[in-house]
Amino acid sequence: MFSERFVLADRVLNVAPSPTLAVNAKAKALRAAGADILNFSVGEPDLSTPAHVCEAGKRAIEEGRTRYTPAAGILELRQAVCTKLKEEQGWDYQPDDVQISCGGKHGLYNIFQAILNPGDEVLIFAPYWVSYPPMVQLAGGTPVIVPLRQERRFDIDPDVVARYITDKTKAIVLNSPSNPTGAVYSLAALAEVARMALAGGWLVITDDMYEELFYGEGRVPHILHADPRLQGQTVLSNGVSKSFAMTGWRIGYSAGPREVIRAMNKIQSQSTSNPAAPSQYAALAALTGPQDFPRQMREAFLPRRAYFVDALEAIAGVSCVAPMGAFYVFPNFSAYYGKTFNGRVIDGSVALADYFLSEAQVASVPGAAFGADDFIRFSFATSLDTIKQGMARIKQALAALR
Ligand code: GLU
Repeated sequence: MFSERFVLADRVLNVAPSPTLAVNAKAKALRAAGADILNFSVGEPDLSTPAHVCEAGKRAIEEGRTRYTPAAGILELRQAVCTKLKEEQGWDYQPDDVQISCGGKHGLYNIFQAILNPGDEVLIFAPYWVSYPPMVQLAGGTPVIVPLRQERRFDIDPDVVARYITDKTKAIVLNSPSNPTGAVYSLAALAEVARMALAGGWLVITDDMYEELFYGEGRVPHILHADPRLQGQTVLSNGVSKSFAMTGWRIGYSAGPREVIRAMNKIQSQSTSNPAAPSQYAALAALTGPQDFPRQMREAFLPRRAYFVDALEAIAGVSCVAPMGAFYVFPNFSAYYGKTFNGRVIDGSVALADYFLSEAQVASVPGAAFGADDFIRFSFATSLDTIKQGMARIKQALAALR
């Protein structure tokens, strides 16, 4: 008989599969089986990849640019990342300071693999994106969860951060706009984190995947704006998945200290070799071509965001901070915990998300997956019509609880 404990490695037994991908797969399977599921689970733009980007990918295939590339990614794309960072942010990077990876997710995985030794601690804010803690664990590190509060609109409280610092603190992950809260950290809080990071010598990892989806004025505050001296110990992580609706192409990029990037390249050369060549040429077209797509997407999301937040806030007992970026709402449903449906107790976000799926045919991701059980995440990267229907169903489902 197959014995998991005997056959499988502890590192894999100690982590769960990605819940965002799992719920999405379940919703799709139910829909394929004929159920009328409204899917608010996975975070993926509902717009198509821009035509000129698809054309560039096709052209790469037709012209035979289908072979191995350098492990770090093609030079033109790494150069394009440097140009973007210089033009948009004023930061200087050379192509050797940049790695192209199989999605932003894989870039983050490479970073943790490159920097962590057993026992090294990584500060991660909760609510967190589902994959940060398992990625740290898979690299042998220890995730240290620093809570953020809804009352502060999920901004960082530097005094709270200070309580979690130890002599093992090696790195901190910043994600602004945040998945799942949509929070954008204030420059003042980032300046305090910068001070602590400089004093502690930590590596700062910024997951900037949602930078283009910002609903405020100007650009998203960034820790390198708070203190440019941090550039020598910061790794930026980003990609084209969200900004150019390219989730399936799997192209991300990281920029940081050359030694860290070189170590990440070593890992990539021994694992994936390189991200798919045609995808890299498509990403090159995305970064160097017309830049109006992210703005169009942002404009398409604005009315959805407004409707979702208003409709949630209008339900008794539900509160929802308006997201300042990304495409998620993260309402607090804890007032409904302890209620029952047909004798079944809704004892937390997993039970409530299950109830929404089975009774309202609405797929969402329980807050527990993000380290915040009071909440449930809904993606609004879907049509306004779907959101309206979904909200009507959720309202009805909540009203049926006793
Ligand atoms: N980042 C997206 C999400 O949170 C994509 C799925 C994933 O990789 O987690 O839904």
